[in-house]
Amino acid sequence: MKKRILTGLKPTGELTLGNYIGAISQMVELSNDENNEVYLFVADLHALTEYQDPSTLRERIKKFIAMYIACGMDPEKVSIYIQSDNEYIPMISWILECNTYYGEASRMIQFKEKSKGKENFTVGLLTYPILMAADILYCDADLVPVGIDQKQHVELARDIAERFNNKYGKTFKLPEPLISKEGIKIKDLKDPSKKMSKSEVNPNGVISLFDSPEIVSKKIMGATTDSENLVYYDEENKPGISNLLNIASVISKRSIDDIANEYKASGYGNFKKYVASLTSNMINDIQGKYNYIINSGKLEEILNKGKENSRKLAYEKMIEMKKKVGLN
Ligand code: ATP
Ligand code: MG
Repeated sequence: MKKRILTGLKPTGELTLGNYIGAISQMVELSNDENNEVYLFVADLHALTEYQDPSTLRERIKKFIAMYIACGMDPEKVSIYIQSDNEYIPMISWILECNTYYGEASRMIQFKEKSKGKENFTVGLLTYPILMAADILYCDADLVPVGIDQKQHVELARDIAERFNNKYGKTFKLPEPLISKEGIKIKDLKDPSKKMSKSEVNPNGVISLFDSPEIVSKKIMGATTDSENLVYYDEENKPGISNLLNIASVISKRSIDDIANEYKASGYGNFKKYVASLTSNMINDIQGKYNYIINSGKLEEILNKGKENSRKLAYEKMIEMKKKVGLN
């Protein structure tokens, strides 16, 4: 039996180097294994938990799809779709909501963090992980590759699935989170104590996959570092340099030690130039493919295929759930 693997990214900002290294490139690797069946979507419903400018959002959803493919996702092998194109997911989500306790949902760390100190936040922020559970459970995903911040949500999906199975009979497979390797959390270039995020307001610390090669180089050259001027890996005392070593290692597929040895005593300037050229070349290649895809006229066909694959599975699951709970 093939392993079903699913993940989604929220169109809350332009895709970043962090998203590429931490999520997309890992999905590309997983999709190249014939034993896996991969689903990758744009989590546009999840993006709505916080206000998005409508026309920017609409444009960005399309850009995400083209960018997934430009980053190496092969639409022949992978079902690529837009979450809101599958109208069965919110129905599944509602039935799951009615099997989730308020206490459970309100204990989620992301909910606590995002609602903290705010007078007004949406109910969507609270039910966010239940919609995520619907995304995962409708297709009986075996593995859900996520960052460590999302692990708790996959565990909640598991708990809800187990509860539903116990109440109504076996309906869902219990999913496992697949946490990317530790070193793979890319940090903000200006403030390496926090992770690079697409919704960050200061663009200088964040590399967008849409930045021009010149801008990419400029941002890397301007990355915050310590003043020791010796290149070696020490996440605690040298977070900036360690972050650049992580980036360089992933892109060049060389080990961190190998790169650190080469640049150890050659000064930060030379090291940064190396990282800048690796990164800008890679992003330049991705953008070349992106432009080809966006102009190819094939996006609609790709999306239709992904949508149908996902709707078919969700429809079957929804009917099963409705029958089990006594609807219809
Ligand atoms: P937001 O700021 O809106 O939360 P984000 O950049 O954190 O955006 P998400 O859509 O929340 O992106 O996450 C998409 C995927 O990218 C997740 O699997 C997440 O773990 C991964 N990811 C996000 N940021 C990084 C990062 N800096 N390094 C590695 N992986 C990342
Ligand atoms: Mg995030």
